[in-house]
Amino acid sequence: MAINIKRPNGTEDVLPKDIHKWHTVEKIARETAESFGFSEIRVPTFENTDLFLRSVGETTDVVQKEMYTVMAKETKFTLRPEGTAGTIRAMLQNGLLNEALPQRVFYILSCFRHERPQAGRLREFHQFGLEMAGSQSPAADAEVISLAKKILDRLEVKNIELYINSIGCPSCRAKYHEALRSFFEARKDELCETCQERLAKNPMRILDCKSPICQEIGKNAPLIIDYLCEECSGHFEKLKKYLTNLGIDYKVNPKIVRGLDYYTKTVFEFVTTEIGAQGTVCGGGRYDGLIEQLGGQHVPALGFGMGIERLLLVMDKQNCAYLSPKKCDIYFATMGDAALEKAMEFAGQLREYGFYAEYDLMGRGLKAQMKYANKIGAAFTMVLGDNELEEKKARLKDMESGEEKEILLNDQFISSFDAAYFDKMMGSLEDQELLGGQNNTEVNK
Ligand code: ATP
Ligand code: MG
Repeated sequence: MAINIKRPNGTEDVLPKDIHKWHTVEKIARETAESFGFSEIRVPTFENTDLFLRSVGETTDVVQKEMYTVMAKETKFTLRPEGTAGTIRAMLQNGLLNEALPQRVFYILSCFRHERPQAGRLREFHQFGLEMAGSQSPAADAEVISLAKKILDRLEVKNIELYINSIGCPSCRAKYHEALRSFFEARKDELCETCQERLAKNPMRILDCKSPICQEIGKNAPLIIDYLCEECSGHFEKLKKYLTNLGIDYKVNPKIVRGLDYYTKTVFEFVTTEIGAQGTVCGGGRYDGLIEQLGGQHVPALGFGMGIERLLLVMDKQNCAYLSPKKCDIYFATMGDAALEKAMEFAGQLREYGFYAEYDLMGRGLKAQMKYANKIGAAFTMVLGDNELEEKKARLKDMESGEEKEILLNDQFISSFDAAYFDKMMGSLEDQELLGGQNNTEVNK
């Protein structure tokens, strides 16, 4: 019967053959964040809609066009379109901000946005993201940016540029808004309908509009960087100095304003031109007013979100290395019931030691079993039949070299197998390039 229910548009299935790619990114991102003092947090997939209205902002594309909202009984809930709002809500609700600052958390989560699906733009996508709360120092901005850069470097992603900008604080932004308003007022009739509304409420959002006409008009708009107050421009200068000291290349891009309302001062993006139009792999910045806006004290904060699907598009394109997928260590090819029972026993012992062992569950003949062992890429095979059981020894075959070794089927089985396995893996390790040069190699075990 043909399957007539397909996955929703803009969603993806990650199949077992690709899962090692996700594990690679998740492992490197996790390890790197932990090495900077961040701990993992897990928050709900949906939140009260008001949370996003108050943080992401009512005049943003995300809130106006992209949220999945349901009315459940009397309450409006929204599938999270990003990770920051829920994470800050959780930090506030659980008193994390009363503990030693800075508080540093990271997350790997799915986000939902009703966008037009295309390469690198999905309706359900995943982010690795993090938030640091408590520090207003530009050293914290440099720290967070260098963390993102470190992840990309360890994954060996190339040709990715870092753009930074400062979008100031509410006081410099008030002057800037005025300048923008008078600039766009002159061509108000040409703006899209949404932007005509934005003109009064939040003219900076016009710069972020995806409509080609609004983008064209916005090209000559005044730049925020020319309106920064002393405090904001000093902060930005310090950040640039720290990045230079850290050896991190960047370009100041005064056009970056970011799509969410909560940003202040620093904003940044890591962008590549290698995966088409959706080239922003990571975006983030500072949001000093957000925690207060959500009912907390004034606690400056910052963070970023890295789109995992986009990152994998780049990594695939650049043939980046991934951790090896888990492969079968040993396959027992069995003939007869007694041999099957023996295989079950040995496989059980091997699994105790963390090996991946398999035997026939399909009732296949010997030849078909060997074909299957080849197909799953088993490192070793061992044929077990009446003869082997009687003589209490069997031949362990290295499937790559074809070498065979006799192994006793007694209580020395594990140690003899372990020794053979160790020799084989030491050999293959020498040929293998290690991801990032740190202790993150997993040798199928
Ligand atoms: P864009 O300008 O591409 O729409 P954005 O500014 O809306 O991005 P953010 O809200 O900053 O994106 O999200 C952080 C990261 O999440 C982006 O840099 C991107 O890598 C990823 N991302 C955002 N929207 C999507 C999407 N619809 N599909 C896949 N990844 C996405
Ligand atoms: Mg977007």
